Amino acid sequence: MPATILDGNKIASEIRAEAAAAVKAMSAAGLPPGLAVILAGHNPASEVYVRGKVKACEETGIYSEKHTPSTDITTDELLALVTELNRRDEIDGILVQLPLPPQVDSKKVLLAVDPAKDVDGFHPMNVGFLSTQRPGLVPCTPAGIIEMLERSGIKIAGKDAVVIGRSDIVGKPIAMLLLNANATVTVCHSKTRDLAGVCRRADILVAAIGRAGMVTRDFVRAGATVIDVGMNRVSEAAEFKRLFADNPKREETFRLRGAVLVGDVHPEVAEVAGAITPVPGGVGPLTIAMLMSNTIKAAKMRRGGIGSGLARPA
Ligand code: NDP
Repeated sequence: MPATILDGNKIASEIRAEAAAAVKAMSAAGLPPGLAVILAGHNPASEVYVRGKVKACEETGIYSEKHTPSTDITTDELLALVTELNRRDEIDGILVQLPLPPQVDSKKVLLAVDPAKDVDGFHPMNVGFLSTQRPGLVPCTPAGIIEMLERSGIKIAGKDAVVIGRSDIVGKPIAMLLLNANATVTVCHSKTRDLAGVCRRADILVAAIGRAGMVTRDFVRAGATVIDVGMNRVSEAAEFKRLFADNPKREETFRLRGAVLVGDVHPEVAEVAGAITPVPGGVGPLTIAMLMSNTIKAAKMRRGGIGSGLARPA
């Protein structure tokens, strides 16, 4: 039986509708939540992402502003901008779009963001809150994956979950969220021995690797839930053929655009998995939806709507 397709667009639009309703209530009671995005330099991919984020804010009713310092900005100048945004009360969330220009000390800049406004959830204080199960801000992509599982009725407690990838942005936080939700979690990486064998133990398999179609059917136990986080651009004809031997729709896209967007999971996995996220249209849309809900959460926590436990800077 072919896998159930977990429709990220549908779940993301549910989350965004809930976010819009929350923003409406907050606006009626005073101020709408506010998000500031910092986009330094000219990275074409970052520009696309930021456009999507600003558009989502407009659709949700969240106030947003974009700061676009030039490519030659210094660490100190960026720190001054972050400090100013930390200070402004109508700004609830600050998002520093990565990568920053090479001369900038990215870690220093991310560390300067007020943890209470850290809607990306990358600040060590929020990482600590997540690992000690305290309220805080959780990175958007992993938070979106949990929403997708829960809203699709896929139970996590007691399940064997395997995560491939240990990045600070996806792998580690999703592993922690799955653990907090009472899964038995294994984290794999480039040095893992018998990767396919370890993955075959999974009831829930999360692939966050960055390698097109690396997870083939021999990685997946029949009926497992497979979450494909990868977003890879494939432009080589031989690689395209390995992934899509017989898919007229994808062939058409490849012919027209010269490339296709592919996940870390080979399409053949849909023949063995119980449920699977597509790429595009799976985890991707949830990332932006969760940015909206994180901004609302940050606003509520700062305004005392729910206990945050977050330390505010002096
Ligand atoms: P990173 O490059 O930071 O991490 C990749 C991880 O995969 C590393 O832990 C690495 O192991 C592991 N890995 C690489 N090669 C192998 C291998 N052959 N076998 C086993 N493990 C391997 O990537 P990110 O976590 O930032 O992103 C992962 C993917 O998710 C990318 O395609 C990215 O574009 C996508 N992404 C999608 C998002 C969305 O919204 N849909 C959001 C964020 C990311 P090691 O640590 O040993 O090097």
